[in-house]
Amino acid sequence: MKSVYFFGAGKAEGDGGMKDSLGGKGAGLAEMTRIGLQVPAGFTIRAEACDYYFTHGRKFPKSLKAEAKKNLARLERVTSKKLGDTRNPLLVSVRSGSARSMPGMMETILNLGLNPNSVEALARNTQNERFAWDAYRRFVQMYSTVVMGLPQDELEAMLRAMQAKRGFGDDGLVDAEGWRELVADLKKYFKEKTGKKFPEDPEEQLWGAIAAVVESWMAEKAVTYRRVEHITGLLGTAVNVVEMVFGNRGENSGTGVCFTRDPSTGDKEFYGDFLANAQGEDVVAGIRTPMRLDDMAKHMPRVYKQLVKVRTLLERHYHDMQDIEFTVEEGTLYILQTRAGKRTPAATFKMAVDMAEEGLIGRDEAIERVKAEDIERLFYPVIDPSVNRAELAKRMLTSGINAVPGAATGRAVFTAHEAEQMALEGENVILIRRETSPEDVGGMFAAQGIVTATGGKTSHAAVVARGWGKCCIVGCNQLKIDYATKTASANGQLVHQGDWLTLDGNEGLVFRGQAKLSTPRLPEAFTTLLSWADRVRKLGVRTNADTPQDARKAREMGAEGIGLCRTEHMFFKDFEQPEKSADRQLAIEEMIIADSSEARRKALSKLLPYQRRDFIGLFKAMDGYPVTIRLIDPPLHEFVPHDREKQEELARKIGVPAEVVARRVDQLTESNPMLGHRGCRLCITYPEILEMQVRAIMEAAIEAKKQGIKVFPEIMHPLVEDRKELQILVDATTKVANDVMRELNVKLKYHIGAMIELPRAAILADEIAELAQFFSFGTNDLTQTTMGLSRDDAGRFLPEYVDEGKAGIYAADPFQTLDVRGVGQLIRWAIERGRATRPNLEVGICGEHGGDTASVKFCHEVGMDYVSASPYRVPIARLAAAQAVIEERRARKNTGRKKR
Ligand code: PEP
Ligand code: MG
Repeated sequence: MKSVYFFGAGKAEGDGGMKDSLGGKGAGLAEMTRIGLQVPAGFTIRAEACDYYFTHGRKFPKSLKAEAKKNLARLERVTSKKLGDTRNPLLVSVRSGSARSMPGMMETILNLGLNPNSVEALARNTQNERFAWDAYRRFVQMYSTVVMGLPQDELEAMLRAMQAKRGFGDDGLVDAEGWRELVADLKKYFKEKTGKKFPEDPEEQLWGAIAAVVESWMAEKAVTYRRVEHITGLLGTAVNVVEMVFGNRGENSGTGVCFTRDPSTGDKEFYGDFLANAQGEDVVAGIRTPMRLDDMAKHMPRVYKQLVKVRTLLERHYHDMQDIEFTVEEGTLYILQTRAGKRTPAATFKMAVDMAEEGLIGRDEAIERVKAEDIERLFYPVIDPSVNRAELAKRMLTSGINAVPGAATGRAVFTAHEAEQMALEGENVILIRRETSPEDVGGMFAAQGIVTATGGKTSHAAVVARGWGKCCIVGCNQLKIDYATKTASANGQLVHQGDWLTLDGNEGLVFRGQAKLSTPRLPEAFTTLLSWADRVRKLGVRTNADTPQDARKAREMGAEGIGLCRTEHMFFKDFEQPEKSADRQLAIEEMIIADSSEARRKALSKLLPYQRRDFIGLFKAMDGYPVTIRLIDPPLHEFVPHDREKQEELARKIGVPAEVVARRVDQLTESNPMLGHRGCRLCITYPEILEMQVRAIMEAAIEAKKQGIKVFPEIMHPLVEDRKELQILVDATTKVANDVMRELNVKLKYHIGAMIELPRAAILADEIAELAQFFSFGTNDLTQTTMGLSRDDAGRFLPEYVDEGKAGIYAADPFQTLDVRGVGQLIRWAIERGRATRPNLEVGICGEHGGDTASVKFCHEVGMDYVSASPYRVPIARLAAAQAVIEERRARKNTGRKKR
């Protein structure tokens, strides 16, 4: 297998489509070379070699050395330079790069190829001894830490000691002699610590660096990042060996990162940071605060103009916003990397819609660009508009660059580790650092928000936080952080660890205290994009809502009806008139304690008006759309008190001896209530409950209809498993419905259906469909009963089953993402059989899977009519349903093409 791909002098063996193999960086370099951009030459070792390395006891494929050697020779020819040469030395960078961007998680080595001979040649050729020795000391430093694992702190301390000894302020001012001395010190230290001389042979250096970059794929921080980001299935990292260009050769040089559009807002503004006279990772590391591109335009107008051209070219070529790394060497612009830029959720929507409107991409592509997480993150909070901004301003600690918008509150914490600890204890925390590094990702993830004293919008903190849509403020220059005393101060204010802070990520402001947050209005592009999705999708999207409030929210989110109202959720709380909650509760408890059907009816009659009122509210909120109401489902013991004191109180209230209550509760106790007396089994044994609930539904529907509301009630029986069982329920339901319609002299169309949440119901779906006018898959229970996994307890061992690094038995948690292979088979079967009996059988899903992207796509594939999701996940379902159609069209086109 060919392991190495060359690029340079306008030609490249790879291309942009080879991301899996060449990594994002390698594929980008090849593609940019192909389209004629000024890219330094080099070669990429494929990720397959990394995979081989880890699966073969940390050894590379045998042929790799020879291949790399051949490519190095070609690189030397193309650049007319030679690695380690005494006249015209070639210097290379050795960089990681996998198929998915993992900013700062893996290693890079710069200036490789320097040794006592080549450094002199470099000094001569550049006529800049200071620069050459600075480059050399950077290389020795990086090699020592990255390849040999020597502690960064101690090397930094040596740098500071040399500066102090020679009276230099910061490292830009150190002269050639100073760097020369530091190189000698660093090499001495290297020998002491490793027992070996610092390698001077450039090829030895190269292989050391390649191995270190590959090793960094498995470094703890990289593994953690992949876990947190759910990045799985990659081969490993590719290794890019690229000719060095230098941004630190004086004021006419520099290095920068830019975005073709603003990654925070999505606006079509050229956005970026530039550091003059700086090398490599200085911008990303956020060590100095860089200048904005507008200032760079003044500083280097000609280069800026070229960069603007590159911006247009790359965005047109890739049809997406690009995050571009570039270096200017003595006035010449080099593009080092391009990739799709990370962006905030709001920017994701804005860019997708704008690009579709500009004709850069099609609407289908715009729909596919948005992910479920983008929607979820749109609902992140802002500082509530009711908060008095003048009062808040008095508590301003510091201001910085608004790297990621949103708002957050939490207790100040100064180390990533403590942030994780405190978050585990249930605290909201704000992580404050001078700058962040990849070691901090765990704490950054745990924090509600992140503040750094240095860095720009492309610093590590900003890039990582943006990916998560997490509020982040960087470059708070005035902020003095003292890690030793765990305090931060600015603006005459002092913050201790544990003090409350509030971040306004939109403005880049940090305040002391805890301000109220609220959820923002959705951006316009959100509405536009979802309206496009609605035009494409075939699945209906309903909601799971139990209260009129939830139903109204769901309508705002685009729900087209209720797919599941869990009636028992209204037994305990009166959402419209909370002061009446206790009455409802008492009525249900009385019903359960009752020992005769007559006593039960009496208690139920008290509950009826409440249920009726709730249902009227639902019908009103869903005017013109179907409302599926499920009859009582959970085992009755869930509604009665289990401790003696509460039982006595209940006994007093309903006027029976305490023993009666205790005995009844005892009777209801089951060892396996999930498989016990629950679901429609309750109405089989206590038909009075069904009578009350069906009466409340029908009376409410008729009342709503009288008020001019269009009502479509669907009465749903849970946990059905048998035709005869359903027959009893359908007969009883029909009788009550007819009675009510006769009494009130109103005719109303309604449906009766069954929840399919037991394997037996799915298997006998043809029989069930003889009676049920609709099926609704209760996939929470269907997953539980098919897989034999307890919904309530499986969480204890499921992580082990799901984690790729552990047993990895399931690809995902089956309660979140439908187990298509197993549970999905039953669903397919049930739909087929059900529709064979009743061709117009309406089919939907109301388990949690109705709001999960992959599961919604499956529901589309098996021909369901609708999915039902909780209100905030309704937009996710709308989007996923549209994506399913687009994917299906593409698959059809591809098979059509293959056949032809
Ligand atoms: C289900 O089982 O999928 C369902 C929707 O019902 P519940 O979660 O209330 O059991
Ligand atoms: Mg259920």
